[in-house]
Amino acid sequence: MGLIDQLVVFNSLSRKKEVFEPQIPGQVGMYVCGPTVYSDVHLGNVRTFISFDIIYRYLQHLGYKVRYVRNLTDVGHLLDDGQDRVSKRARLEQIEPMEIVQKYTNSFHDTLRLFNTLSPNIEPRATGHLIEQIEMVQEILANGFAYERNGSVYFDTVKFHETFKNYGELSGRKIEELFAETREDLKNQDEKNHPSDFAIWMKAADEHIMKWNSPWSVGFPGWHLECSVMSTKYLGETFDIHGGGNDLKFPHHENEIAQNIGAKGKAPVKYWLHTNMLLMNGKKMSKSDGNTISPEELISGNSPHVTKGYDPMVVKFFMLQSHYRSTLDLTDEALQAAEKGYYKLTEGLKALEKLTTDQAGEGQLDQEINGLLDLITDDMNDDFNTPKAISRLFDLTNYINKLKDGHLAANAVGTECLEHMKRAFKAFFLDVFGLSLDSGAGQGDDIVEGLMGLVIAIRQKARENKNWETSDQIRDGLDNIGIQLKDGKEGTVWSKKS
Ligand code: AMP
Ligand code: ZN
Repeated sequence: MGLIDQLVVFNSLSRKKEVFEPQIPGQVGMYVCGPTVYSDVHLGNVRTFISFDIIYRYLQHLGYKVRYVRNLTDVGHLLDDGQDRVSKRARLEQIEPMEIVQKYTNSFHDTLRLFNTLSPNIEPRATGHLIEQIEMVQEILANGFAYERNGSVYFDTVKFHETFKNYGELSGRKIEELFAETREDLKNQDEKNHPSDFAIWMKAADEHIMKWNSPWSVGFPGWHLECSVMSTKYLGETFDIHGGGNDLKFPHHENEIAQNIGAKGKAPVKYWLHTNMLLMNGKKMSKSDGNTISPEELISGNSPHVTKGYDPMVVKFFMLQSHYRSTLDLTDEALQAAEKGYYKLTEGLKALEKLTTDQAGEGQLDQEINGLLDLITDDMNDDFNTPKAISRLFDLTNYINKLKDGHLAANAVGTECLEHMKRAFKAFFLDVFGLSLDSGAGQGDDIVEGLMGLVIAIRQKARENKNWETSDQIRDGLDNIGIQLKDGKEGTVWSKKS
């Protein structure tokens, strides 16, 4: 065991690292806000889901039995113009809202599969939990923390704050400042007692297509309500971990806490975990700003932001080389560096598998190497510090390469230590990080890079000489073995086809 023999997590609510102690020893309940399934996810969304996948995998690695719930938002998440995201898309594509939901749910799953993430244990949808949402509105009303206006029901943030003094605690906002800021539901602003009050049930206009009967009106639930309801239903009134991107802290998670306390009288979550944003060229990757790259564009290289395509495992590795609470800027250079690093580790692991030792007992390096392996666990126990853990795998690879190349005697490690190295490397690389050995092969390898440089130069020469037969032969031949070329301003780059 290393120095930190307990998992410590950074709790956004206390703004401190805390020892992780689940409510029921050995079991963890974890809820993560999933996507609104009205369009394809972008790479920023993917970063958040990959981060929680690693957390899920590591908790299981530690031996916890985890119930991981990640929802799909399919109603109630409104755009600034007051229109429901799903309904608007259904009108645009001229299909049923539920076809939109299915289409983008499938595409979301396909995308996450590319990155080898595990499925959650439950993936509930908001529209599948209307009865429970109506019941929670009733509870909040009965407890006096909501009021009805013209068929809509609003959460009374002022009364709530007077009673519990904690509205704004998670996001660090002051209720007076919220007065000026909350503009979520402009259309119905005059119905509210206070601008920071938010709708938990909304009366639907006639033209609205997704609507249900309720005691107050034919309408639909407010966006924040579904997460309160579905987390409570599947994980209980208080559960261990709630996650999401840090852009959801306010208003979404703040309002979730208020709703749960308003309905059940207790705070729902022990540890709030928030991921930081993926940036592109220094700016948050976001659909509304148009500053996005889709996973497919990045993998195929079909985007002005990259010179070539990248294997999804390389993209994932690039993400894991930064901590989930740090911002991460996506650049072509950083991806190229990640590609080289990823290749070094896959080759390291392959070489490790082939290593043998003639040292039956302890070798002279055993202590050093076992110490290094313990540090990987320490790093992961320290709020899932993947970049540090990966740097240890690089250190380990240096030992492996020296053993492989004979710079260290084969008997420098004993049998047990060698087995420990093999087990630990595989456990972290394949099981905890969910990376794979057979991706990215070739890229980052000096010989392959050299050969490809030569082939590309010959093709370039053929093109200059208008020798189209040869240049086509090269392009088609590479295509046949799964390599694509992309011609750009900076020259021609190659990548493996996905
Ligand atoms: P949405 O579908 O917009 O609700 O987003 C789904 C998840 O992705 C949420 O947890 C967001 O916080 C997260 N997210 C959105 N944009 C980014 C980004 N640029 N980087 C990381 N996570 C993001
Ligand atoms: Zn949510």
